[in-house]
Amino acid sequence: MKASATAKASATAPGLIIRSSAIHAAGCYTTLPIRKGKRILEYTGPRFSKEEADLRYENRDITYLFGVGDGEVVIDGFGIGMFMNHCCDPNCETEDVNGRVFVSAIRDIAAGEELTYEYNLYDSDDYECPCYCGMPNCRGTMFSDEEVARKAKLARRAAAKAKKAMSA
Ligand SMILES: [Zn+2]
Repeated sequence: MKASATAKASATAPGLIIRSSAIHAAGCYTTLPIRKGKRILEYTGPRFSKEEADLRYENRDITYLFGVGDGEVVIDGFGIGMFMNHCCDPNCETEDVNGRVFVSAIRDIAAGEELTYEYNLYDSDDYECPCYCGMPNCRGTMFSDEEVARKAKLARRAAAKAKKAMSA
């Protein structure tokens, strides 16, 4: 095998391990220091449309779906990427490069740190998705700001409806 072929195949940074996490179940940790700006891994998995994802996961509580682009296509997370936990003060971010999703370091990361990024969850049927990251600036939810606003609006509408029904 040519050396160049091997280098191309390994898109994931070396030294990543999965072990139990203080934030949630299992997490992804680095055993090596990572420099700010380094691409750590690609979020890979089967891709399908949002409609198909809704059908497939109708009755499942846990999904690792990642919306790409305008959110019409989702990646069904598979591999190391799906073990990365949400944190309100993360050390990584995701970038969408022509429909491929990469996780990169947004600051220098020391060996032994857990790798995290902000989920910014949206379009969820769950009433809440609490965050337990424990950071001083924890937002208390894994939803995006837009999703929090959307849910508040839905709740207000439901409350108004209930009031109307009671007075009727
Ligand atoms: Zn948090």
